[in-house]
Amino acid sequence: MKSESYDVAIVGAGIVGAACADECVRRGLRVVVIDPDAVGSGATASGMGHIVVMDDSDAQFALTRYSQRLWQQLRADLPDDVEYEECGTIWVAADDEEMREVWRKHEYYSARDVSNQVLDESRLRRLEPNLRTGLKGGLLIPEDAVLYPPCAARFLLERSQQRGARFHTECVTRLGEGRVDLSDGVVIRAEFIVNATGASASDLNPGVEIKKRKGHLAITDRYHGFVRHQLVELGYLKSAHSVTADSVAFNVQPRRTGQILIGSSRQYGAEDKGVDHDILARMLNRAQEYMPALASVSVIRTWTGFRAATSDQLPFIGPWPKDNSLMLATGHEGLGITTSLGTARILVDQITGGEPQIPIEPYLPSRRVREITHV
Ligand SMILES: Cc1cc2nc3c(=O)[nH]c(=O)nc-3n(C[C@H](O)[C@H](O)[C@H](O)COP(=O)(O)OP(=O)(O)OC[C@H]3O[C@@H](n4cnc5c(N)ncnc54)[C@H](O)[C@@H]3O)c2cc1C
Repeated sequence: MKSESYDVAIVGAGIVGAACADECVRRGLRVVVIDPDAVGSGATASGMGHIVVMDDSDAQFALTRYSQRLWQQLRADLPDDVEYEECGTIWVAADDEEMREVWRKHEYYSARDVSNQVLDESRLRRLEPNLRTGLKGGLLIPEDAVLYPPCAARFLLERSQQRGARFHTECVTRLGEGRVDLSDGVVIRAEFIVNATGASASDLNPGVEIKKRKGHLAITDRYHGFVRHQLVELGYLKSAHSVTADSVAFNVQPRRTGQILIGSSRQYGAEDKGVDHDILARMLNRAQEYMPALASVSVIRTWTGFRAATSDQLPFIGPWPKDNSLMLATGHEGLGITTSLGTARILVDQITGGEPQIPIEPYLPSRRVREITHV
């Protein structure tokens, strides 16, 4: 039996595992990453790559804003194929209720130094001429960005390898108590093991409460200038929060190639990877309600992916209370591309005893263990 030893063993080479590897080597730790598949080929390859500040809770805001700033710092190092573009988000308001949400968000972001502009209907139409008439307005967040997630994950992992990280293309069959068993019989011993397997996290650690939340996306042929910002309906927030019903929302993104990435849907309890044509049709119809000219574009590919959802919409970042050697970095739901860099920082702070730059308590896995025990 071959055995290797490291400071940190990271299981999963999605964007979260890759960011953790990059951060570990930056702090001088000896690291191995294990994944049977290509880097960034899980949910990371299925996601939209919207780097977005969100304010569903103060904890969500803190992690998304911290992470967005880290992406901005990394920007100069990112290769061209990561396609990082600071195109901004426009949250689109369809009615007076959503316009009140625009003003609430405006106050929240302004109080926290996030640049933003309230748009009336005519300004909204000038910025995005393909939106339908009759919308009420919107909120522009200019610092939000988009990128191509699999290339971002590959960049982070390759950079960590250039600085000494090892990568094993194997499946992990068992982990815990300082030991990771690989499918080829190799045993890895590490002071810390990071479970960064996204929606599969509870397969390796059955006590970890993660549910799969399926999403669909569609991409079009090239239509340069058709969409200029990431456009998201404010009704998205209502659908994203529903933890039972299937939902769709208008959410479109301009790609550097001129393609339009169209989302998005959310489904619980749908475990097969296949495209659900009913949900897909609802999603595309919703997009056309906001941008009628989308009816004439060609969609060239559709796909699905699984978000890793926790019950309180916050990720698990930190030690698993039942095993001192085990750290979790999972449960990022629809924000794991955005929050990968912040996750890596605060996870490695906990490994090295560093001082985190944001409060970490909201993300500690112990919050769920305590709650479950209490119930
Ligand atoms: C439709 C959709 C749209 C999204 N849009 C956005 C967005 O716009 N912005 C945003 O920030 N986020 C978005 N997300 C969320 C984002 O994609 C995820 O949160 C993120 O990719 C999670 O990364 P991860 O590294 O945790 O997981 P993954 O990318 O799933 O990586 C986990 C890895 O673990 C590996 N693995 C699993 N089991 C094992 C094992 N036993 N042994 C070894 N390796 C294993 C897998 O092979 C995989 O490579 C979206 C997600 C979906 C589905």
